[in-house]
Amino acid sequence: MLLDEVPQGILVIDAAGIVNYANLAMSVLFPEHSVRLHARLADQAGMEDITALVRDAVQGQQRVRSEVRVVFQAGRNTVEERVYVAVAAPLIDMPVGGAWVMVEDVTERALTEQIRKDFVTNASHELRTPLSLIHGYIETLKSGMIKSTASLHRCLEVMEKHSKRMMRIIEDMLTISRLESGDAQLRRETFLVRGCVEDVLEHLTPLIEARHPEIVVNFPATNGKLEGDRFYWDQIFTNLIENALKENPNPGLRITISGVWSPEECILTVADNGIGIAAEDVPFVFKRFFRCAKHHSQETKGTGLGLSIVKRAVEAHGGTIELHSLPGVETAFVMRVPL
Ligand code: ADP
Repeated sequence: MLLDEVPQGILVIDAAGIVNYANLAMSVLFPEHSVRLHARLADQAGMEDITALVRDAVQGQQRVRSEVRVVFQAGRNTVEERVYVAVAAPLIDMPVGGAWVMVEDVTERALTEQIRKDFVTNASHELRTPLSLIHGYIETLKSGMIKSTASLHRCLEVMEKHSKRMMRIIEDMLTISRLESGDAQLRRETFLVRGCVEDVLEHLTPLIEARHPEIVVNFPATNGKLEGDRFYWDQIFTNLIENALKENPNPGLRITISGVWSPEECILTVADNGIGIAAEDVPFVFKRFFRCAKHHSQETKGTGLGLSIVKRAVEAHGGTIELHSLPGVETAFVMRVPL
């Protein structure tokens, strides 16, 4: 039947509320509550909202549309909410009377929309903090209360620090948005990964000198090449190595950056033996603006965007990233990139 080919679920309900027809997609969309034919829709589990919609369509003799949320048992202890848009319209001029219903699964769209809203809220919040601080200092300067050059200098330094933070947040947001909108056109070139890592370490010299960690760089003696966009790989290694340095002020820090090549893929790892990431934070670290609770102080240098950039940049190269953390022993970010 032709209607079994369409991705939307389609139902025909007669004037007595009995299901006369359900296409294949209905059972795909509602795996748990597969709709029974020749039974009343109102008696079927999970169909409450759709039944109400059909009633509105029949009583009002007009097309009606509504968002329907259904909670499924996704695993033994997990439930998952799926979001549907359902349209119902009366079957005018048909002997059965009743109504037809079309159901579309919009869960992914709803999720994307939610992420977008959260992003705008978080971004505004993150930008407002440094901006209000700068504003405060401008007010102080205008009031003429600051007399000494030294205090003036301190004021300007703080303002500079916060404006740099705002710049960094904006740059990070632009990078994420480029990566997510799919128009991150990768400028692919073949490069030696070790070379990229060495450049990054050079850029991070001031932080390395402040932390004086032991740094182990372990790549194949010959080759060890990747075809990808060096701009993003610089960012990936910068963010990962910078995090390892930034999060671990205690002495005895060791950072290992390594790469292993096979014919199909290369596995790149950035690991440290520092304070690590608590198990409950691990599922969230790649989310935008997420920072582990212990770092929620004014002094935090990060934007909470570093790891989400890393994840999306690795994915733009067809790869994956995993995090394993045993606090105090090893925290490793492992990337697998197809060759
Ligand atoms: P930020 O810009 O704040 O560093 P990230 O997205 O890069 O944001 O990282 C998110 C959080 O994950 C950080 O706030 C930090 O608490 C934690 N984190 C990341 N890498 C490490 C690491 N190597 N060791 C300990 N914590 C880390």
